[in-house]
Amino acid sequence: MRVVRQILLALRHGLTRPASGCGCAALVTHRLPKRDPPPGRSCYDADMALIVDIRHWLDERGELPRVNVQIFRQALRVAQLIEAGGPLEAGQFRETLVACSCRPTRKPCLGLLWVEKAEDDRIWAYCVTCKREEIWISGWQGTLWAEGPMEPASHAMFTPPQNVN
Ligand SMILES: [Zn+2]
Repeated sequence: MRVVRQILLALRHGLTRPASGCGCAALVTHRLPKRDPPPGRSCYDADMALIVDIRHWLDERGELPRVNVQIFRQALRVAQLIEAGGPLEAGQFRETLVACSCRPTRKPCLGLLWVEKAEDDRIWAYCVTCKREEIWISGWQGTLWAEGPMEPASHAMFTPPQNVN
């Protein structure tokens, strides 16, 4: 049986709950023991994966929180993973340009995270280089980044229509 433990990211990062947002358990994450724990440490805690519901990190408009730079950076990183993983079909995966945050052997991992769409529609992000960073993202479906990068825009799109009379 997998034991689910709840921790506050605030404890790890020294953050406080954002002033805006849904007001529920903001920044609360769940960490699950990995199925086959390797020896040594992961970038979070030994044998743990970060599980996040991105809705708890966004403001009331569904945008990135601007009240704290550390929270902003964390939320931005997850948003980038959503942008890459949201458009995938179940079972598909791709590489992102999000750098791994682990420091195996006390040196930064130079790997990039991959994202995969899980069967339960969550986005699973992981580092194939060090195999230590692992993030499960839920609540992404209604976000601004769910359908991938924004469509190409040009200046013409923002020019008022010409008066042809
Ligand atoms: Zn890594």
